[in-house]
Amino acid sequence: MLKRLQDDFYLAMLTLVGAIIVLCITPYGIYRLYHGNYIVGIADLLMVLCAIIATRMAWRTGDTVKPGLFMALVFCFGVVLVCINLGVDGLFWVYPFLVFIFFLVSPLKAFVLLITMLSCLLLIANLRPGLVFASQFQMVSFIVTTTVTSIFAFIFAYRAQIQRRELKRLATTDSLTGAANRRTLNDQLAVAINEHQRFGRPYGLMLLDLDHFKQINDHHGHNVGDQVLAGLIPLLQSMLRQSDQVFRFGGEEFVVLLADMKPADLTKLAEKIRNGIASYLITPDGSHMTTSIGVAMLQPDENWEAWLHRADMALYQAKHEGRNKVVAG
Ligand code: GH3
Ligand code: MG
Ligand code: MG
Repeated sequence: MLKRLQDDFYLAMLTLVGAIIVLCITPYGIYRLYHGNYIVGIADLLMVLCAIIATRMAWRTGDTVKPGLFMALVFCFGVVLVCINLGVDGLFWVYPFLVFIFFLVSPLKAFVLLITMLSCLLLIANLRPGLVFASQFQMVSFIVTTTVTSIFAFIFAYRAQIQRRELKRLATTDSLTGAANRRTLNDQLAVAINEHQRFGRPYGLMLLDLDHFKQINDHHGHNVGDQVLAGLIPLLQSMLRQSDQVFRFGGEEFVVLLADMKPADLTKLAEKIRNGIASYLITPDGSHMTTSIGVAMLQPDENWEAWLHRADMALYQAKHEGRNKVVAG
């Protein structure tokens, strides 16, 4: 449970907002009901109920987008209702909402929802003067302060989103080639094993190692070697499906993970890749690079270490048999 909270930012935020709502609004709802303000009391308790339902849904399905949007919409509606019924007392609730809505949905969605919610509130206030604001001056102050708070919250959330994405990219990809890194490979292999065991989804794996790559570095320098490695990824992707994933395993070794693969198709595709590299991966002096490939289909009850090991053994055999070759493990 703690691990899920650490790994999934939006789930953690949704849970935090849900917990705060339950703790802070429940006593108010009970208080309002006790004092006969049934509309606000029921609205408060309905918001608490929706917060519980949305948080539960997010935990059960792993999807935080729909529950977050549901919660944000309910609260937009609830805040307007509370302001109409309580007048100035209700306005205080708008300010925490201006901030926490950014924890529920993406910054742009939150901003649009806030503008809509505030416009509705102001429209109702203008249609029924005295219902929400005590004076015109108070309304202008409210517009200015809520606009300023919304803009600052938006900028803060937007910057945090960009930084979070960048951090994720840095943590999951290899900086030279842009391929996914080894840490991501471990995660994706575990996902594949899980899907294979639960749904019988067939998975194939390719382990590629460029032949005599050391000579490129020795003859042309390390920078040229780097360029060849970087050029390999778009070439591989041009021969793969969108859903196939390429990882840098280390040095000049790469792994391709392929879902929904038949054994015969896996070997055929590996041959196509071997041919493609031999034809199009060219060094500055015009010589053609080649690659050896070990392939392995995921077997029932196999763990990912054993699966990867079989592909590695097949690759070793391909090297042993003279390179520029595909061997199935
Ligand atoms: P083989 O056909 O047996 O695979 O021969 P090889 O020369 O490719 O194999 P070996 O594993 O002996 O050498 C791999 C070389 O890849 C050694 C290392 O200098 C080079 N290498 C590893 N990572 C990088 C990198 O990021 N950039 C460059 N330019 N070279 C790298
Ligand atoms: Mg090599
Ligand atoms: Mg190697």
